[in-house]
Amino acid sequence: MTTQHSELPAQPLTRLSEDEQLFRDSVYEFADREIRPLVREMDEQAKIPKALIDKLFDLGVMGIEVPDSFGGGGASFFHSVLAVEALSRVDPSIGVLVDVQNTLVINALVRWGNEDIRKRYLPKMAADTIGAYALSEAGSGSDAFAMTTRAAERDGEWALTGRKLWITNANEADVFIVFANVSPEAGYRGITAFLVERGFSGFTVGKKEDKLGIRASSTCELLFDDCRVPRANVLGEVGKGYKVAIETLNEGRIGIGAQMIGLAQGALHHAIAYTRERKQFGKAIAEFQAVQHQIARAATELEAARLLVYNAARLRDSRQPFLTEAAMCKIFSSEVAERVASLAVNLFGGYGFVKDYPVEKLYRDAKIGQIYEGTSNLQLQTIAKQLLG
Ligand SMILES: Cc1cc2nc3c(=O)[nH]c(=O)nc-3n(C[C@H](O)[C@H](O)[C@H](O)COP(=O)(O)OP(=O)(O)OC[C@H]3O[C@@H](n4cnc5c(N)ncnc54)[C@H](O)[C@@H]3O)c2cc1C
Repeated sequence: MTTQHSELPAQPLTRLSEDEQLFRDSVYEFADREIRPLVREMDEQAKIPKALIDKLFDLGVMGIEVPDSFGGGGASFFHSVLAVEALSRVDPSIGVLVDVQNTLVINALVRWGNEDIRKRYLPKMAADTIGAYALSEAGSGSDAFAMTTRAAERDGEWALTGRKLWITNANEADVFIVFANVSPEAGYRGITAFLVERGFSGFTVGKKEDKLGIRASSTCELLFDDCRVPRANVLGEVGKGYKVAIETLNEGRIGIGAQMIGLAQGALHHAIAYTRERKQFGKAIAEFQAVQHQIARAATELEAARLLVYNAARLRDSRQPFLTEAAMCKIFSSEVAERVASLAVNLFGGYGFVKDYPVEKLYRDAKIGQIYEGTSNLQLQTIAKQLLG
């Protein structure tokens, strides 16, 4: 039987096209050169310097999927995954900044924005504007649709009242996708997505959280006190915000998977380098079989996690169902990241426990992967629902 072109052998998931490889390498080189020297200071000060954010825009990683016609990279979702992974090898705080910008905010604008919204917002997102995604509240996290933030029509505008909690990028962002309910009696069918700008009257960014990990990434409360939003700033349709939220988060959690495999790769890299150098009992600790096996197991788990993440991203780009795969990649990669970072701390011994070495930070950073964009229990619920109905 002759092989037709359409029957070319399937490509390995981890095989990158030339363009993907160049892109990934350029982001990693940037991370090594521009981010690595700042990691400790950013963690201690819980802040990302503006100069570094400007460089991220210049690099092109803040508007990866913004179409070329709007000044963005015009690239795929998979490119966003590669960028988040490469950045998170060095600093998962920068990884999540870029992740939220691309896989949540720009993704929602491209997908749900009408022509007017795309024209007004996409060029600035690619050029110099950071976005945030505000769904969670103090009383509604996993049960996000139980939100109490309300929107009412007033003087030909929408007026938002309520509070959001835990909002990533809030300190740096100028554009916020905010979910509020316009008719609570309709339940989740009242939820609507609004585009709120930092300067809108009645809107304030509140307290910044003091966190265990990803400390440089800002996480803040948002306050809406009769915040006025033009009618033209409804993203998608009134009452269809639940769809915007669910579908964007399904994609976003692949980005968190990417953050977690990048983190695990960073921790493994440090562990390998250190165990080759560190001598005990007259030889490098990497020469002990017990250590070799621990490293081999970590590398195997990381490879499995990467395959899950890449597969979910490639399914999404090829417009095939990916809900279960996205949930699986997030839960597995976040668990692998925690285990690999923990192993790295162990292999550094006492040096793993202090801030002069990079692995204690990665260990702290790993924990968030099991919490945001749907906790692990919620991912398991999604997977089980697909299997059991
Ligand atoms: C650093 C950080 C950044 C964040 N960034 C954002 C952001 O940018 N935008 C945003 O909107 N939100 C953000 N969040 C919020 C995050 O998504 C929520 O914290 C998360 O969804 C969990 O909600 P919760 O904290 O209210 O926990 P809860 O929902 O109260 O959960 C507490 C525990 O109960 C379990 N649980 C709850 N319901 C069930 C159930 N049905 N079955 C089994 N177990 C269950 C959970 O798994 C968890 O272990 C962020 C959070 C943090 C910490």
